[in-house]
Amino acid sequence: MAKPNKKGPTKTVDIFCASCNFLLFKYRKGGKGALVKSFKERINQDYTLESCICPKCQKPFAREALIRGLPAYKFIGGKVWFK
Ligand SMILES: [Zn+2]
Repeated sequence: MAKPNKKGPTKTVDIFCASCNFLLFKYRKGGKGALVKSFKERINQDYTLESCICPKCQKPFAREALIRGLPAYKFIGGKVWFK
């Protein structure tokens, strides 16, 4: 099967708030790089109530951005982690 992503199938990662470990997103992440942004169309599950704000500790963890014309979140450094 030909896929544009040469690293094989994209897997889903869980993205957590670095301050309180609240689960923010389930995200289909391509590749193995650091997590600096997420495209909204790749978010499988969104557990936030307000965009870019952790619902548990109320801290902002990202900013809305357009990346290559697609709506995305840019994570603020050190505010999230994933596994
Ligand atoms: Zn939090």
